[in-house]
Amino acid sequence: MSHHGSVRTALLWLISMICFTHVALFARGQAPDTLGFISIDCGSPPSAAYVDAITGLPYVSDADFIDTGVSHNVSAEYVDASLPRPHYDLRSFPTGARNCYTVRPLTPGTKYLVRATFLHGNYDGLGDGGLAVFDLYLGVNLWRTVNISSVSSTFRAEIISVVPDDYVHVCLVGKKGLGTPFISGLELRPLADELYPIVANASMSMDVHGRHNLGPEERMDVNFRYPDDPHDRIWKVLANPRSWIPTNTTAAVLNVAQDQFLVPSAVMQTAATVDDGFSLQFYWDADDSNKAFVYYVALHFAEVRALNSSEARICEINLNNDLWYSKPISPVYLYSGAVFGTVTGKTQYNYRIEPTNNSTLPPIMNALEIFLMVHTAERATDGGDVSAIMAIKAKYEINRNWMGDPCGPKIYLWEGVSCNYAISSPPRIISLNLSSTELTGEITSAFRNLTALQTLDLSLNNLTGNIPEFLALLPSLAVLDLTGNRFNGSVPESLLKRSQEGSLKLRIEANTSSIDNGPSKSDSQPRGTKRNNTAVIVPVVVVVVVVLLVVAVIVTVLFCRRRTENDPSVRPLNGSHSKEENEDDVSLQFDNRQFTYKELETITNSFEKSIGKGGFGVVYLGYLEDGTPVAVKTRTESSSQSHNEFLGEALHLIRVHHRNLVNLVGHCKDGQHSALIYEYMSEGTLQEKLREKSPDFVPLSWRQRLRISLDSAQGLEYLHKACKPPLIHRDVKTANILLNGSNLEAKIADFGLSKAFNNDLQSHVSTRVVGTPGYLDPEYYTSFQLSEKSDVYSFGIVLLEVVTGQPPILPESVHIVQWARQRLAKGDIESVVDGNMQGRYDLNSVWKVADLALRCTEQASSQRPSMADVVVQLKESLELEEGCVKVQSSYAGSGDLYAESGDARSQSTHSGVALDLVGPAAR
Ligand code: ATP
Repeated sequence: MSHHGSVRTALLWLISMICFTHVALFARGQAPDTLGFISIDCGSPPSAAYVDAITGLPYVSDADFIDTGVSHNVSAEYVDASLPRPHYDLRSFPTGARNCYTVRPLTPGTKYLVRATFLHGNYDGLGDGGLAVFDLYLGVNLWRTVNISSVSSTFRAEIISVVPDDYVHVCLVGKKGLGTPFISGLELRPLADELYPIVANASMSMDVHGRHNLGPEERMDVNFRYPDDPHDRIWKVLANPRSWIPTNTTAAVLNVAQDQFLVPSAVMQTAATVDDGFSLQFYWDADDSNKAFVYYVALHFAEVRALNSSEARICEINLNNDLWYSKPISPVYLYSGAVFGTVTGKTQYNYRIEPTNNSTLPPIMNALEIFLMVHTAERATDGGDVSAIMAIKAKYEINRNWMGDPCGPKIYLWEGVSCNYAISSPPRIISLNLSSTELTGEITSAFRNLTALQTLDLSLNNLTGNIPEFLALLPSLAVLDLTGNRFNGSVPESLLKRSQEGSLKLRIEANTSSIDNGPSKSDSQPRGTKRNNTAVIVPVVVVVVVVLLVVAVIVTVLFCRRRTENDPSVRPLNGSHSKEENEDDVSLQFDNRQFTYKELETITNSFEKSIGKGGFGVVYLGYLEDGTPVAVKTRTESSSQSHNEFLGEALHLIRVHHRNLVNLVGHCKDGQHSALIYEYMSEGTLQEKLREKSPDFVPLSWRQRLRISLDSAQGLEYLHKACKPPLIHRDVKTANILLNGSNLEAKIADFGLSKAFNNDLQSHVSTRVVGTPGYLDPEYYTSFQLSEKSDVYSFGIVLLEVVTGQPPILPESVHIVQWARQRLAKGDIESVVDGNMQGRYDLNSVWKVADLALRCTEQASSQRPSMADVVVQLKESLELEEGCVKVQSSYAGSGDLYAESGDARSQSTHSGVALDLVGPAAR
């Protein structure tokens, strides 16, 4: 077979895999309607499909989305004209720890509003005895706990989340002794990216805590939803408190350009106001009185009266007596505007919207939304594995606990399935035990897509047909047990070959039909007619291996923009780097060039200005011919570090380019003189920025600290991941994190100790301990075991310094890990956080980083995350922090117009309106 032929075979295989995935995922489920909505009536008869009279939206039965549960009707006394038809019936789950809906097809990467509805309606005749508390999961992440505390009320759970795959699992998990979980309806509505941009990726979602329409007349006791709201959000009427005065307009209220909320006109047309001189107040209590919860609040305003020239309605928004939004706002006539941001750190949130002293009218508010931010970062199983196992489940009609995600959460792992949980990639299915499960028919081709499978046990079933050849193509398969079936035909040569080579343990005894060539454990030798096959298969395998090797070489060349220090072709270059080499690094255009000593004298003005001193010698400031500042790191004669080590640093840096690694501009080796020339980092080291004691010392804000941490983590991640073998820094510390420019961009410096993993360390054992006291990985220190995780440990110390402002070794020789771990274990973060930040940080974000630092500094390196995971976590912390402080408004520049001062503000005498955020929803 030619190379072309094998490439074509590989391509066909790839295409068939893609097609398979497509078919498998579209095999079940209900096509969304023309709006992309999916509306499921849980518990209705399998073929039921109807148009709901209230919304005009088409609903379908849930039968195609779930295999388990029991259908019930609600008791007749609860059915009247006002009850939406989807609530007439429900599905309950008296058995099984976890019961899951698989909702598809969705558009991967799209933001959805997912709504689950629950009306008990005495379906079981148990009255209050049938009430229940259970957990709701979105995929593998806990969404919320549902507490059905009344038989007659409708409860809703609603979440806004980016769905990464073309399906989503919604699972109900019962709690021991707390009743039977059930569900009445499941609705999914796609949202444009522009809506609620705070939900930007799958790792963070928003659980709707309250979405209220203010000011409708009493008789308008209906919720607004589709078609009033094209996104079918449900705007619950907030019954008018006595002190609130309803007001409205019949004219349409428009949305502004790039509106993030698109509140429907019907909702904005009504508003609540108060008597002159009073303020609008409302409050809610943090769930479980937990101060750490983060809420996202959006207050919606529109003027509903055309004001005359002597009138002005201007207000300020206060939260717990502090100004929440920095500027006064003045709602615009018939245009919807919003003030929004996150809040946290309190047990009760008290909002007061009060008139400014130059306002002639009382405040007004038309609608409000409150969400609880929910971490949904737990990763679902690899999509290819999921579709393969779903197809296997469908083919053999397997009825185990096979619902929801196969690998997660770990406590609900599918029976017979084992998974591998890597930190930075989705879980993979590595073992499948289907022994004695009454499988019939042939081995489905879906197995070939379980590409991480190591063990497959299909023994003691009634499988028939040929043993398929593709099983030999599963790259990691080490154990294949096919004993006790009814296969016929011959055992594929490729399987026999792998068995003989020892890469596969193949068991095939006790098959009742004849297998031409079935090997016993002791005899797996191919015989007779099989030689021809062998003659074909062996070259195919060889060709495939060669093609893969060629691809691997190309990939290595493309991705590894570095050469190891022993590579004889690495020479200091005078030319510029190719575009390809620099593609990650748009900010730096330096050449790596060789300098003479004379040139060094010129660019440093005879070594005029020293900017630091390190182990090699003094570092001087210099300027290249074009004025670019550089740091010239000279080597002094007395330096204890060898010439080779010094230049070794140069050899490392020549080909390593990343925007978060300090760039080597060139080097000098001129007689006795040697020097390394780097891009100049104007703001010095992170260590100085954290602990300098000069009088004009300006402490770093939490946001700056997070950005610096993220930059540095990205630099290290690059060192670990971009090349094979990975580069280990070995001396990660705050003194080796340099900062540049007014935005304090951070870069990792000092590769003097970096070594490619396999150069001197085939066995991962080094001959001497390197690094700096306080930052040394304890595992490396005692055993000389070196890995990327040693850098992760040192980076954990950096993170602790960033959070606490303390050095790695505190006075009285206490190590920072011990010091911080003790305090954090008691939940005491305040005593750990750097007082220089004066409490100006998002507590959740700081906790997250402190927790990450502790994980990085675990004793056992296997317990530590990878740098890739550290990067992900830091990004999330930054998102939390940035969301937290940014209370924004869509009133561009309005504050400036009303900044003038006047009489003292009117004082409020109204008590706030309590928002019943988690209670039952009106029908
Ligand atoms: P060692 O080389 O033993 O690890 P070190 O990392 O502290 O020690 P150097 O890398 O030689 O030593 O740097 C010494 C000091 O020079 C740094 O602390 C920093 O203040 C300054 N410095 C080094 N490189 C730069 C640079 N690229 N830009 C600006 N200042 C620099």
